[in-house]
Amino acid sequence: MQRIMNSERPYLYDLTLPVLEQLFKGWGQPAFRARQLYRQLYLNLSDSPATMTDLPLALRERLAAETSTTTLELVRLQTADQGLTRKALFRIPGGEVVETVLMVYPDRATVCVSTQAGCAMGCVFCATGRLGLLRNLSAGEIVEQVLWAARELQQLDPGTTPIQRITNVVFMGMGEPFANYDRWWQAVERLHDPHGFNLGARNMTVSTVGQVTGIRRLAREALPINLAISLHAPDDALRSEMMPINQRYPIAELLAATQEYIAATNRRVSFEYVLLQGKNDTPEQAAALGTLLHGMLCHVNLIPWNPVPGTPLGRSERARVLRFQQVLQAHGIACTVRVERGIAIAAACGQLAGLPGDLASSASVHIPLGE
Ligand code: SF4
Repeated sequence: MQRIMNSERPYLYDLTLPVLEQLFKGWGQPAFRARQLYRQLYLNLSDSPATMTDLPLALRERLAAETSTTTLELVRLQTADQGLTRKALFRIPGGEVVETVLMVYPDRATVCVSTQAGCAMGCVFCATGRLGLLRNLSAGEIVEQVLWAARELQQLDPGTTPIQRITNVVFMGMGEPFANYDRWWQAVERLHDPHGFNLGARNMTVSTVGQVTGIRRLAREALPINLAISLHAPDDALRSEMMPINQRYPIAELLAATQEYIAATNRRVSFEYVLLQGKNDTPEQAAALGTLLHGMLCHVNLIPWNPVPGTPLGRSERARVLRFQQVLQAHGIACTVRVERGIAIAAACGQLAGLPGDLASSASVHIPLGE
């Protein structure tokens, strides 16, 4: 039986439906009760047994006494963009904090979730990397962030947005998902489950720093979720300086694994490229990137870097961003400049660090926002 304890009580979001059935069987309950509970958790978005009125009172009371549904403690909620960008800071069991960002657009609602508290990857432009790895999140802790966002969305004024449910999940918050692969993948399966949250696999995107073993593993998975790779430099010397992972998996090896992934899945890969003034944003570097990616089934997302106080890095001027894009496009590379959200509340790419006392100067993340 898989580990079902998050704390001393079974944490319901960590449990698959078969494990829930097993738990209920031990309580002398029929299997259909577990399915009812599962629907309450993932379809009705109930987070309290007291509200699950289709379950017998005695069962609700036992669930309340002996299990937990909510382990994310909301420490702070910040909003921007007329309330359509909402960043939550959660304390998790153990005392660490993680961040989750909901972004509501006219045609979709995207939630960017964390997969680890802190991160071991140490990218120089990222505040989460400064924290080091604190701990991996469980599958339930990853799923619970999405359910929080779904409830948050339901509470928005219908006059503000016609979007009623989460349409996209991006695993681009704190942490490297492939460094917590098993738990992260369980979260993907849970969110996709047609009997539960029922989110399409193609509506989920994972972003990796370039962990080659994870890319190869993802290529063999049955669910066709989207892959984004943080590239950020066109040559090994610069990439190794910005992203220590490059010393382990240099660009040639990373792109070879990416080609294998594309060959196995026939899916287009996104490369994320955060633009830093004078560092990686020259036309020559754009040309080198264009040459590197030529002929690959891919798309490049250019991300104007968001300010992170305390680093010597600078944000590329708009004209340099557009020039970079033009050069890439001239090389035949599909390329967009990411729409920015939430900079004022440090919810944009590269700005999540989960530092509760100092959110304004926080910074982290993989590169989320707006696919
Ligand atoms: S960019 Fe992503 S992989 Fe790199 S340190 Fe930040 S969270 Fe970790």
